[in-house]
Amino acid sequence: MPEAVLTEAARDMLDWNGSGMGVMEMSHRGKEFTSILEKAERDLRDLLAVPGEFHILFMQGGGLGENAVVPMNLCGPLAEAKSGEVHTDFVITGGWSQKSAKEARKYSQVNVAASNEANQHRQLPDPATWQLTDNPRYVHICSNETVFGVEFQTLPDLKALGCEAPLVVDCSSHIASRPVEWDKVGVAFAGAQKNLGPAGLTLAFVRDDLLDQAMGICPSAFNYKNVAANQSMYNTPPTFGIYMAGLVFQWLKDQGGVAAMEASAIAKSTLLYGAIDASGLYENKVEANCRSRMNVPFFLKGDDGQPLLDAEHPRNAAFLAGAKARGLLNIKGHKSAGGMRASIYNAMPLEGVQALVAYLQEFERTQA
Ligand SMILES: *Cc1c(COP(=O)(O)O)cnc(C)c1O
Repeated sequence: MPEAVLTEAARDMLDWNGSGMGVMEMSHRGKEFTSILEKAERDLRDLLAVPGEFHILFMQGGGLGENAVVPMNLCGPLAEAKSGEVHTDFVITGGWSQKSAKEARKYSQVNVAASNEANQHRQLPDPATWQLTDNPRYVHICSNETVFGVEFQTLPDLKALGCEAPLVVDCSSHIASRPVEWDKVGVAFAGAQKNLGPAGLTLAFVRDDLLDQAMGICPSAFNYKNVAANQSMYNTPPTFGIYMAGLVFQWLKDQGGVAAMEASAIAKSTLLYGAIDASGLYENKVEANCRSRMNVPFFLKGDDGQPLLDAEHPRNAAFLAGAKARGLLNIKGHKSAGGMRASIYNAMPLEGVQALVAYLQEFERTQA
């Protein structure tokens, strides 16, 4: 979270805007909270240049919740639906898209159109090689794989691949760090907790023509059409999360919007990858054309030159202890990948990355 946002929220905790109430004490239907929600939606639409045909839904359930919410909303009756199976296409580029495909199997016939598993999730399969099926209900990608640090630099153009299905994009971990190519998107979703605000708020951007395909089993509170028709107020939305995200949206605008965040992400990630590539001790093997600007996984090497996956290895343990002593926290890699990972989201200032790079170099000297 940007520090300025936390300071503002702390100041208003007991009394928002002279209302005599903190945000957590407001009625979600009162004029105070309604104004907070409306401004948050306007600012987000503005920031991400969300076209009018997309609904912005403030939901709950997280990114993993959307893995079920999406198929329940897109795999139901279509007027022209053929009898027979309902199927969906998935592009597996890491742990998150893997989880998405697994969940969707409960609701549809899942086809894996492409996977980078055989390459240890170090590259992105070229869309020209994707084995898309005929008429899938949707094609799912994760546009930034948070654990392995693989990011689409441009979204696939399904139409150009001869596929009319909507593209579903899990953009949880890089939303608002780069512009969105809305003309290629049907549904985009993101848990707020990486780049937009506190955990508990989930954003879904749903194209208008996709609101009418829900399965009968889809819970009303997670039915896109119902949530859209009720301006995200069918049931009580995560009010405090929306308020905090609204402060982040204002902060993002004050910083110069998504263009400024993208420039900052390029500067921060270039600096960090450069330091890793220049060193003898650290490595990142993701192909240069799909390295994530948000999540930079890296490994320390052992004396034999092999990456040290195990966080308990003495060299890794010493590295992490030294990082912690310098206030460089949460550097340990995800348990499914091992090694280290620096997540350098929007709110991380360049100075934070500079401090990490200085530490990388200092630690390497002690290991010589
Ligand atoms: C963090 C993350 C999620 C998280 O889902 P939650 O249900 O909000 O925990 C989903 N997808 C991606 C790509 C993520 O990085």
